[in-house]
Amino acid sequence: MAISIKSPREIELMRISNHMLCDMHRELEKIIRPGLPTIELDKLAESYLKEHGVVSNFYNYEGFPAQICVSVNDEVVHGIPSKEKVLHEGDIVSIDAGLIYKGYHSDAARTYGVGTISKEKQQLIDETRNSFFEGIKMARAGNRLFDISNAIDAYISKFGYGIVRDLVGHGVGTELHEEPQIPNYKQERRGPKLQAGMTLAIEPMINLGRGDVVWEEDEWTVVSEDGSPSAHYENTILITDGDPEILSLY
Ligand code: MG
Repeated sequence: MAISIKSPREIELMRISNHMLCDMHRELEKIIRPGLPTIELDKLAESYLKEHGVVSNFYNYEGFPAQICVSVNDEVVHGIPSKEKVLHEGDIVSIDAGLIYKGYHSDAARTYGVGTISKEKQQLIDETRNSFFEGIKMARAGNRLFDISNAIDAYISKFGYGIVRDLVGHGVGTELHEEPQIPNYKQERRGPKLQAGMTLAIEPMINLGRGDVVWEEDEWTVVSEDGSPSAHYENTILITDGDPEILSLY
């Protein structure tokens, strides 16, 4: 299947969808504290979405039971918010969220420390974020898709972290997951040529230990196999004729 090229009108809708999502992430970040049950993040997302007349694209996606994904410590992605799961001082928490505005999807993730966290967890969060920015230096029309993957891998490998290989970034637009898949690790081939108008969710998922992951009993929550903490950083970007535009940051 071809990678879709968005029209100027579609790009404007993607921009609005993603700006709203960025705003929602900022609201969620404000309530993170030790003692918070993760369901409270989901409730805040639900009220934010309702207030803005939009819907979550994660809710009911293949049956996902919540508005957003909240993943704590060794949980990599797809954690289910719950009133039993409470944030503790020193934890790290990843929030992955998206919404649909007039048919157009946004997708972005952030990892935060809860209270005071260890230096090694902070560095994991920072370098995961930095690897996204290293990757998107290659996100230019005329380059190839896997130039992004290779740049993320080359950057992260310096720290000895484990890159999650079982989950990848993706195209995004009228669907949450569109072509192409975007690995965060080195590829032998350079992949399809990037063109202006492509909208891509670039999302390194990085473990402090090895990159292997397993699925929990709930069939959703992905955890690091070795139990090490994991960080996630994601934005939806637009390929242009110049620098990429990060739609989910403003
Ligand atoms: Mg995504």
